[in-house]
Amino acid sequence: MSLLVLKFGGTSVADLERIRNVAAHVKREADAGHACAVVVSAMAGQTNQLVSWVEEAWGYKARSQNGAEASALYDTREYDAVVSSGEQVTSGLLALVLQAMGVNARSWQGWQIPVRTDAAHRAARITGIDVIEIKDRMLAGEVAVVAGFQGIAPGNRIATLGRGGSDTSAVALAAALQADRCDIYTDVDGVYTTDPRVVPKAHRLDRISYEEMLEMASQGAKVLQTRSVELAMQRGVRVLVRSSFEAPDLPGNGNAETGEGIGTLVCHEDEIVEQNVVSGIAYARDEAKVTLLKVADKPGVAAQVFSPLADAHINVDMIVQNVSEDGRSTDLTFTVQSADLDRALEVLTKAKDAIGYLDLRGSTDIAKVSAIGVGMRSHAGVAAQMFSALAEKGINIEAISTSEIKISVLIDAAYAELAVRTLHSLFGLDGR
Ligand code: ADP
Ligand code: ASP
Ligand code: MG
Repeated sequence: MSLLVLKFGGTSVADLERIRNVAAHVKREADAGHACAVVVSAMAGQTNQLVSWVEEAWGYKARSQNGAEASALYDTREYDAVVSSGEQVTSGLLALVLQAMGVNARSWQGWQIPVRTDAAHRAARITGIDVIEIKDRMLAGEVAVVAGFQGIAPGNRIATLGRGGSDTSAVALAAALQADRCDIYTDVDGVYTTDPRVVPKAHRLDRISYEEMLEMASQGAKVLQTRSVELAMQRGVRVLVRSSFEAPDLPGNGNAETGEGIGTLVCHEDEIVEQNVVSGIAYARDEAKVTLLKVADKPGVAAQVFSPLADAHINVDMIVQNVSEDGRSTDLTFTVQSADLDRALEVLTKAKDAIGYLDLRGSTDIAKVSAIGVGMRSHAGVAAQMFSALAEKGINIEAISTSEIKISVLIDAAYAELAVRTLHSLFGLDGR
């Protein structure tokens, strides 16, 4: 007997028929004698609907719909109260469907377990999960159906974990339960060399290291939420990304016990035999660029810009600073999530006097494209190859950032797909 966590995303629970299909996957594992916890997302599209209701209620329209009309700084505790509700529906429905199939099951909201989080509403971090009761029940044969994406923050209020957060709920639960595996069921059968919806020549990886998956996720491959990978790496959780669309009663060619051959196993680097220099290409179109013009070039100014953003829980990604010719001022460009752009602009407008800048601009028509691979540690020249290939296609690079195993470039959004396809071919990843 194993202890398993199974997570099903929005498209996998999109309607009752899909929920029945999920229940059949769960029943297969429960019938095999495994103790199961199932984490569910809201039905596909539901969370977006809830977010738009919150914004409408507050009178705020996102920039993409013709500029902000009211403050983007709404009460995030009420956002969480509304937006967490999608998972309440699917967890209850799945428990009912399982019961109707004769499987002993009970639903759990984040606060009932409880899944404790910090106070960063809208993008909270899990601080601890008390699994004693659900583990006892699981070991006694009851399937725990857990609402993903949510927990309980200090002050006894519901908190959500950031978009895509059910992945993190699942991995955190697997870590707390000391589960044998965490299966992430989604609408693709694993992690591909790039988004298979953009590049049909992409191929599935049998294994990917935590480090590479972390870079892939943080650079835009939304198949797993970044925090879930971070947590899996820290806690050594074996994550298997697999398809919920495969027939539940057919185990396929893979090994049902280890998951080998079924999807993509996210694991330690030393468990992977064959390594390419570049393992995957990721892209993100949901980032926005913020530029501060003529900022005084003096010590402490970067802190004055980035501290209020951090206080508002806005994550900053790439940062570029250009010193002007007179050496006294600088232009500062950085990227944030598009969903945070209006809040970032508002925060920086409020801090204008403290920072001292001439003008503030925001734009969303940018994309970030990244090449990722642990092989970069031991191979020189990857960046040069990448920049030449993009130049040949006439793609201009606005900013660059690198890590030991990643090179990212910021480009015009219109060229995103061309850049992804170009790099996918360049690094020998096309259909194998
Ligand atoms: P879920 O609703 O199950 O959480 P998501 O939509 O969040 O699913 O993530 C799955 C999607 O991630 C896929 O449909 C695919 O388009 C996208 N994706 C992006 N990059 C990759 C990649 N490298 N490998 C697999 N899928 C990817
Ligand atoms: N339902 C949430 C979202 O759409 C969480 C998730 O799907 O993981 O972001
Ligand atoms: Mg997801």
